[in-house]
Amino acid sequence: MTIGNILVIDDDADIGELIAAAAESIGIPCRTTTDAANLAHLLDSDVSLILLDLMMPGMDGVEVLRLLGKLECRASIVLMSGINKRVIDTAEKLAGALGLRIAGHLQKPFRLTDLEEFLRGHIPQRSTTAAKQEAQIEFAANELGEAIWKNEFVLYYQPQIDIRSGEVDGLEALARWHHPQRGLLFPDSFIGRLEMTGLIDDFGWRLADRGLAEVRQFSMNGHPPPRVALNVSVRSLRDLKFPDIFVSLAQKHSVPATRIMVEITESRLMNDPSNALDVLTRLRMKNIQLSIDDFGTGYAMMQHLVNIPATELKIDKLFVQKMHANDSDRVMVEKTIELGHELGMIVTAEGVETEAQLEFLRQKGCDRAQGFLFSRALPPSEMTAWLSAYHARGVQA
Ligand code: C2E
Ligand code: CA
Ligand code: CA
Repeated sequence: MTIGNILVIDDDADIGELIAAAAESIGIPCRTTTDAANLAHLLDSDVSLILLDLMMPGMDGVEVLRLLGKLECRASIVLMSGINKRVIDTAEKLAGALGLRIAGHLQKPFRLTDLEEFLRGHIPQRSTTAAKQEAQIEFAANELGEAIWKNEFVLYYQPQIDIRSGEVDGLEALARWHHPQRGLLFPDSFIGRLEMTGLIDDFGWRLADRGLAEVRQFSMNGHPPPRVALNVSVRSLRDLKFPDIFVSLAQKHSVPATRIMVEITESRLMNDPSNALDVLTRLRMKNIQLSIDDFGTGYAMMQHLVNIPATELKIDKLFVQKMHANDSDRVMVEKTIELGHELGMIVTAEGVETEAQLEFLRQKGCDRAQGFLFSRALPPSEMTAWLSAYHARGVQA
């Protein structure tokens, strides 16, 4: 770990100077700007902490967050504002949905001593993993293409538990890359590049083929295998032939359509509705189950939700993990469960890590839970072992 730089974005030059002085007094290099339009020039890999004013004329803090998301910024972000906490909470959620890392917030006005103390607690570190991830973003198309062709992309499986019965009723397949030099890589470091290079379709078909082939090995004691949930990029739904190809793949592996869940990320669906709704409707007509993933992180969700023929609503882990600390997240979880049920959907909570979270979800009538409390995503052989151990232990409802 090495110390990184701070970047302050605030339209008030005095605030920038104050923070720079405080940072430098404790030995952290700091740059400031009053104009967010300069951001792309100022943001290099040395910046590991950004202090961002939410209220600025011109480009406001929310727009800056979007830009940082687009730039795939890996720095930690501290939101500053004199406005009420709810606005900061909402901005924090947006940042999470954009894949940004929020390190906290600073309520204005602040005193110099408070500021110094805050900075001491947030000394920016350039972690080696952050540096690694920066390198991963630039995977070249030919490297990705070769990895697809060499089957270096594999699936790990995470169980989904029926909260009432305690039984495993599904497995979500999550992509991993066995990179020959870098080791095991997670989707955040390659899905974006696959989408950008147009290789995501090829990648998606290979993994769907793999998942549908592998799911049979998870059948226990003569029971049919659990439902398999596959993540599909919204980009791939542009192809009107998608439903037919998908169903013939399922037939090839003799997996009934009703045992397959296709997960689509909500925010992406709203941004790219072109053929997506058409394709999703036809998938449903072919009895494939549909899940709206990361629910709550997109916009205009309520109005659109009724138009999407989904069978499952997945509450994003961001809300699940903060629901005990934060009223608005708790309400979001409760309302999503109610809304899903009103629309006749199954509601699944992801990112469940504690018994307390599970108990709360149970009380609110949530149907399924998925998260580290039960298991991380595991390679197929380990998932088989996990399943038999779970069954042997007996189901605790
Ligand atoms: P997602 O579909 O929302 O998947 C859930 C993510 O949360 C997974 O991360 C999973 O490992 C993680 N997770 C599960 N339980 C917990 C928990 O209790 N606590 C915490 N902190 N995290 C938990 P992962 O595997 O890194 O996947 C990230 C995202 O990449 C996925 O988010 C999905 O959007 C995308 N993705 C994964 N596999 C594929 C794929 O095959 N195709 C496409 N198009 N996208 C994929
Ligand atoms: Ca998913
Ligand atoms: Ca999710």
